Amino acid sequence: MGEQYAAAAASGRAADVILAAGLASQGDGVRGLMLTRGLALHLWRMRHLGDTSGFEAVVAVVDDWLYAKARRERFKTGFERSPELVVRPALTWWLDSTCRACSGRGHPLIPDTPVIDDSRRCAECGGSGHARLEREVRSDYHYAAKAVVNELDRICAEVFGNMRSHLRSGV
Ligand SMILES: [Zn+2]
Repeated sequence: MGEQYAAAAASGRAADVILAAGLASQGDGVRGLMLTRGLALHLWRMRHLGDTSGFEAVVAVVDDWLYAKARRERFKTGFERSPELVVRPALTWWLDSTCRACSGRGHPLIPDTPVIDDSRRCAECGGSGHARLEREVRSDYHYAAKAVVNELDRICAEVFGNMRSHLRSGV
């Protein structure tokens, strides 16, 4: 993702590019919903520009999609329809998975000091600096949360991969 991209998204031109790519009329599932409601751009803006104005709109669409998927696939774990349990924490994690306990350092601070204790690993993330998705949701929602994150990754790869190739070709 380069500067050309950022400029396009900021100017609103990216929306035109998505339409030009002919994606809006295709698509199914959450991808189709995102595209037809113009939400794919929100995803990108949240992740790369820190603009979270579309957060709730995205949560609503992803929750619809997840609910339909859970019914279709007969999720074994009890699926209650509540964005608080799965979609909201999964989207929050997807946007920023920095471990909150150590602020991504991977090591704890020496108690009552601002000094990083390099000799120990952060107990929350095991030293990786990244929060684990499994810790953000209840254990019976791990599968659903993982499905949400995979879907968001897929949408971004697909939509923005397509945008990029259209921007390159001068559409
Ligand atoms: Zn940590």
